[in-house]
Amino acid sequence: MLRSRSPWGCAIIVGASSGIGAALARRLGEAGCRLALLARREAELAHLSDTINRGASALRAGRGRPRRPRPGHLCGRRHAARGRGGVQPREGPADGRGEPARRDRVAEPGGRVLRPLAGGHDRRHLLGGGGPGAAWQPRLLRLQGGPRRLPGGAPAPSRAKRGDRRHGEARTGRHADERRRPSPAFSHLRGPRSTADPRRCPSRHAGRVRARPLAPGHVRHPEPAPLAVRLPRHLMVASPSSTLPDPLPADRRERISGWGGTMSAVSYVYRPTTVEDVRAILELAQSRGLTVGLRGAGRSYGDAALNAGNLCLDLSLMNRILGWDPEEGVMRVQPGVTIRQVWRHAIADGWWPAVVPGTMFTSVGGSAAMNIHGKNNWKVGPLGDHIRDFELILPNGRIERCSRTEQPELFHAAIGGFGMLGCFTSLTLELKRVHSGLLAVEPIVVPSLGAMIAAFEERLAPADYLVGWVDGFATGAHLGRGLVHAARYLPPGEDPDPARSLRAETQDLSAMLLGVLPASVAWRLMRPFTNRVGMRFVNTAHYHLARRHRNGYRDSHTGFAFLFDHVPDWQRALGPGGLIQHQSFVAADQAREVFTTELRLAQRRGLVPYLGVLKRHRSDAFLMTHAVDGFSLALDFKVTQRNRGRLWALAAELNQLVIDAGGRFYLAKDSTLTPGTFAASLGEERLARFRALKRACDPEGLLATDLYRRLFPAP
Ligand SMILES: Cc1cc2nc3c(=O)[nH]c(=O)nc-3n(C[C@H](O)[C@H](O)[C@H](O)COP(=O)(O)OP(=O)(O)OC[C@H]3O[C@@H](n4cnc5c(N)ncnc54)[C@H](O)[C@@H]3O)c2cc1C
Repeated sequence: MLRSRSPWGCAIIVGASSGIGAALARRLGEAGCRLALLARREAELAHLSDTINRGASALRAGRGRPRRPRPGHLCGRRHAARGRGGVQPREGPADGRGEPARRDRVAEPGGRVLRPLAGGHDRRHLLGGGGPGAAWQPRLLRLQGGPRRLPGGAPAPSRAKRGDRRHGEARTGRHADERRRPSPAFSHLRGPRSTADPRRCPSRHAGRVRARPLAPGHVRHPEPAPLAVRLPRHLMVASPSSTLPDPLPADRRERISGWGGTMSAVSYVYRPTTVEDVRAILELAQSRGLTVGLRGAGRSYGDAALNAGNLCLDLSLMNRILGWDPEEGVMRVQPGVTIRQVWRHAIADGWWPAVVPGTMFTSVGGSAAMNIHGKNNWKVGPLGDHIRDFELILPNGRIERCSRTEQPELFHAAIGGFGMLGCFTSLTLELKRVHSGLLAVEPIVVPSLGAMIAAFEERLAPADYLVGWVDGFATGAHLGRGLVHAARYLPPGEDPDPARSLRAETQDLSAMLLGVLPASVAWRLMRPFTNRVGMRFVNTAHYHLARRHRNGYRDSHTGFAFLFDHVPDWQRALGPGGLIQHQSFVAADQAREVFTTELRLAQRRGLVPYLGVLKRHRSDAFLMTHAVDGFSLALDFKVTQRNRGRLWALAAELNQLVIDAGGRFYLAKDSTLTPGTFAASLGEERLARFRALKRACDPEGLLATDLYRRLFPAP
């Protein structure tokens, strides 16, 4: 059966079949087999018209892009010029944007050209005009009222000459210069740009440009933005004038940004100090028709704590420790208390927060809302497993007290509920007993990702913390090589001077690096290295230096846990574009394969992560959990104006890999998920339960953030 999806294929079929039809008619007519001819021709025409319609639909849908014909290949234009008929690409009048419109037209034998009927997509009525009379009409045409009456017929178009400005435009309807550019929509599927790309190496390709430059004065269409995917609206920076109708005092307006620096928004920022303030602000927002986005210390990478054009309830001033029991290691805090405040308050009594992130500057409220994990996640679970209870103020002002026994469903949903069900106003934490301010650390150099995963698995029982640094630049057999740090608490008696190591001042990170360099300016010195060459050098040097220092050592809790805080504001070293982190969580038996593919893909796309971190996790009982019984790989990518689109396209590919492996994502780090990918990773059943709770706690949708709008768009 004849099939064609491209217009060129359609042209071949129409032309060839017209010839076959004419020959058959002559021979069968002579034989007096008129009936047989009619039946056969009707069937042929019905099939051909279907084929043409399919080709036309494919063209409209962009699937059947016209291919450049090979020399000697039967093409519509040449064929029409010889009077055989065919489907031709044609330049229509310029559309509103000055772009030459493109339509197909069917050339009849003799060079007559049929215009498609306005608004009609079915072109079957265009066929069969060559027959001598109504008796030759297939039944289909008779039912439609017969063939269209044609005027004398348009002359066949002349072949464009080489050098003619329109030469080269005809096949795609675009200027030849534009045609050479990869389509932005698909460019992310191609590999990294090489010198084969004319944009990168114009001099090498200058001689190949065939089309003459456009005439002076010709208005050139603006260069399309170099984005491989169109960024969704919420990723655009909000402009105060366009988004804020000023329902609240203008001096409340502030531009706030995600920690990664890639997203920011202007909001009306309020910083309450009491629960009554919080209630009043919720009422205020409601009365002005604004939504409220909660914000702790703003350490989430993306848009989790942004609420463009609306109200931002910043809880950083609700930062009092409400109670401390040094016997039990139980602390009650306001939501704005930071992890730093918690450990500084408790460590002298021999307690340490059971779960801490990579920075000590997150708030307890924000950490609970994201249900943060530490380097000991496989062993002790997320922060939520160490929260005894909390109080949550709902948008209607009611305060709910939740624990594992009191409102357990809300307890397991608000923790990890990214501030969408209510605002924590107080939380009770259970801390971990420690007998020393030091940890015993074992560095393990590993030559590949597989070896790193094996090193983790071997140490799951003896270690209390495990974290792996991955060199994103290593390739081949060394892909995923790096350094694992396994740490364990010191048992009583192992630290010769626990009173000293447990002092908060001993734990404080030094304000100087290497004893001479103020840590606060170190990010400026890092800046010249935050490019591909520099980071390749840094990663390689780090790996080889680590191979020379394999001895175990002792480190403070803070030194080990808060590595990132040694250099304050280090993310600024990456430049004004900031960074995104892609953290994927997959089951243990799939981790090696998925993460290997991720690293290879990033390298192939020319977007190498400057930092990679591997952790081990376990699943937990929280509704919006990100954890699985497996591993996570966090990859940090520098964002620039030039690579932003390609980066988001890469993230989409990485996200798909994770979904295919049944993995999960972490909203605190996310900047790139879509509603579909998020739903696929979490599962519809969990999402439905979350939506039901959201309706119950916040029926009017008062609590919202940019992240929420991104992943839960209004129906
Ligand atoms: C350098 C660095 C390293 C990190 N390492 C880790 C890590 O190892 N493990 C890990 O899990 N995370 C890590 N993170 C992420 C960080 O722990 C989370 O983003 C955390 O949620 C940040 O807390 P925050 O107080 O800054 O909250 P924000 O970022 O301000 O807010 C986070 C979310 O909490 C909500 N929220 C804030 N306050 C409240 C409240 N009172 N009630 C209800 N909801 C509220 C907000 O609406 C938002 O959705 C890291 C971040 C950085 C910058």
